[in-house]
Amino acid sequence: MEITRRGFLTLSGALGSGVALSSLGVDLGPAKAYAAEINKMQRVMAARQVTTVCCYCSVGCGLICSVDRNTGKIFNIEGDPEHPINEGSLCAKGAGFFDLTEANKYRLRKVLYRAPMSDRWEEKNWDWALERIARLVKDTRDKGFVTRNAKGELVNRCETIGHLGSSNVDNEECWLMSVACRSMGLVYIDHQARV
Ligand code: SF4
Repeated sequence: MEITRRGFLTLSGALGSGVALSSLGVDLGPAKAYAAEINKMQRVMAARQVTTVCCYCSVGCGLICSVDRNTGKIFNIEGDPEHPINEGSLCAKGAGFFDLTEANKYRLRKVLYRAPMSDRWEEKNWDWALERIARLVKDTRDKGFVTRNAKGELVNRCETIGHLGSSNVDNEECWLMSVACRSMGLVYIDHQARV
């Protein structure tokens, strides 16, 4: 059953009167989605709006964050139509900005580790993870560090570790990561945005 805006109002009245339309075989999914959208629009209109800039690339698109006045939490992020750079539009990465907030229930919140050849994830903590990463980097670098190339030229590089940046790494984090990688002699450094 397709629901128009006018039909939605009629249906809302029916829902309000307690008629169990779903038991009559009416699909209430579209009505509920529409109601949720209206609810969100009303929340956006009542929210405190804060402008900011997307951190992901040097385009610097403007964003509007809607903050719930009661909870103080962001519940919506969209392009700023008054921003001179993007005029409200966002690329797919910027459009997914809200998923970075704590409201995203799928966001990873703990360290999960799967041992080599295992089919089971184990929950670990950050101390354990940092210790293990540092150990593996040190051991691999010790074995794979090349001081001179085949021509005898001084190169001081590590050829056995590669680093690929994630799409959720911002400009400043990219800079920090590339500096850290280069300080260890890595040469195979790339970023998701270039793939
Ligand atoms: S929305 Fe896209 S184009 Fe705009 S600054 Fe963010 S990453 Fe760059």
